[in-house]
This record gives sequence, structure tokens and C-alpha cells, in this order.
Amino acid sequence: MRRLLTSIMLFLGAKHVAAQAPIGQIITGCSDPGTIALTFDDGPSVYTPQLLDILSANGVKATFFIVGGGWRGAIDDWSTQWPSILQRIHNEGHQLASHTYTHADLSSLSWDAMHAEVGNNENAFMNVLGFFPTYIRPPYLSCSGACMDMMNNMGYHVINVNVDTKDYENTDSSMIWVSKQKFEAEVWGGNIVLAHDIHEQTVVSLTQFMIDTLRARGLRPVTVGECLGDWGEGWYRGGR
Ligand SMILES: [Zn+2]
Repeated sequence: MRRLLTSIMLFLGAKHVAAQAPIGQIITGCSDPGTIALTFDDGPSVYTPQLLDILSANGVKATFFIVGGGWRGAIDDWSTQWPSILQRIHNEGHQLASHTYTHADLSSLSWDAMHAEVGNNENAFMNVLGFFPTYIRPPYLSCSGACMDMMNNMGYHVINVNVDTKDYENTDSSMIWVSKQKFEAEVWGGNIVLAHDIHEQTVVSLTQFMIDTLRARGLRPVTVGECLGDWGEGWYRGGR
């Protein structure tokens, strides 16, 4: 019996390792076609707590690609609400990922500047949570050959998208229907969906629409890691 149990565990373990997300190549979709990964970039913002309320009320886990510094101020500035929002995202079971420190176009930077954009975000995460992400989305989805070499060296899963809601072009309440229509037309399973929690209409209007639409199609909303077969053990590095 014990031997049988060991065999089963070995089998499950092997299957699990085989399902790990690749490093050093651009990932645009989920490996599980029954899942959808909703992703929110550029936050945290003042709208993020309301987004977390909506996700929680629907029992949905999402992925947040975080800009650690830049125009909004640093996520590890404890005089702001940003550290506690990051902690809440983590505590509620969502995935945190990197979107660089200042939202720079990595392909336009020298190696050292590129390295600093990623490394500074790692440091900011460490200061707040004591660990940092292994998943990254380069701003503007821009990552040249040198950038990909660096991602490989630094051990990052590079996440692109295959459904762009273009919510950043439809931020007005009278235009958000365009993003809804785009989502409805393009989402059929296995998609990584791009939206932004810095826009109010994305939070108050688009998110519930996306959840209702994908559920009506029998799809399961999960984190990027889970849609690639990584249930959390590979999401972060550093101490805990
Ligand atoms: Zn962005």
C-alpha cells in the first residue's frame, strides 16, 4: 500500500514538474484551455481595493503586474496605502507579478538600466513582502533579444497577452462598452487577458462583465501561474 502511494505521489510530482511554466520565452496564452487569466497592470492604484472587493465577491483570483515606483510613488513607502494593498492582494490569494519599477520600455535601455528596472522592483517587493515575483510583463509588451537574454539570466517567466481589452483607450464610462465587446468577441478559453486597475471604468464596469461572460461560457478564471500549471510554488523567490 505504501509503495502504491509512493508511486502515485511520484507520478503526480513528475506531472507537476512537467507542467512548469517556461523561462526565457514569451508566453501568450494558458496551457489549460478551460481557464482564463484576468490580469491587471500598472497598479496598485486608488481603485485597486474596490477591484479586490469585486474579485472577492465573485470568488475570482487574478494576477496583478505591479509597477514598484514611478509616477504614483513607491510601493514600499509606508506612509502610503500601497504596502497594505500589496499585502491584501497576496493575502487574498491573487498572484503578484512584476511590471518593472518605472514602467520603462526595456528594449530602449542599456543592459545596466534594464537590469535596474527589474532589480529595483525586486527590492521594493522584498521591502514590503519579503519575496519577489518570478513572473514579469515587460511594459508595452516590449522585450528585445537582449531583454529576453536578461529575463533568462534572472529566471523570469515573461508573460504577454492574447486578449487586449484596450481599456486604456476606453476609460470613459460612455466608451467602456467597446472593451466589453472586444472581450466578448475574443475570449474563448486559454486566454491571458490584459486590463488595467488604474482606470475606474475597468474596475467598476468591465471586471464584472468579464467575470459574468467567461462564466457563462463555462470557463474558469485563474491566476496566470495556475493557467500555466504552476499552482503557487513557483510564483516567488527570496525569503518568506
Ligand atoms: Zn503597463
